[in-house]
Amino acid sequence: MNYKEVLKQSKLSLTSHRIELLKILATRERALSEKEIEGLMRGNCNRTTIYRNLNSLVEKKLVHRILSEEAVKYKLIAVNQNNSSDPDHVHFECTNCNTTYCMEELEIKDFELPDGFQKTENQFIILGICKNCHYENS
Ligand SMILES: [Zn+2]
Ligand SMILES: [Zn+2]
Repeated sequence: MNYKEVLKQSKLSLTSHRIELLKILATRERALSEKEIEGLMRGNCNRTTIYRNLNSLVEKKLVHRILSEEAVKYKLIAVNQNNSSDPDHVHFECTNCNTTYCMEELEIKDFELPDGFQKTENQFIILGICKNCHYENS
């Protein structure tokens, strides 16, 4: 993936922090918590900077935020083309290994909200045992 191109297309300035964040997220299959990301960032980069940069990536729908039971986690959205595909999909969190999976094929349907309520974000998490843990136990 060309991170610079991705940032440019999203009209975000190219900062080394943003590129590094994208790289970190791109190499992991599971969603990472803020703490994990913090640990993976090289150099001195404080929490506020990381958080601010993550937020801008979330706003541009390059990364999505998952409010899991354990922590707030971040995952790179497959940025292969410019389809502003709705990133609202179901997440699965394993209560055994705490891994959060994206279930991109499971879309969250748009619920009709009562008058006066406005959606900003959909979050749908299924808790359970993942297939890796399932095999371990059987
Ligand atoms: Zn598991
Ligand atoms: Zn996801």
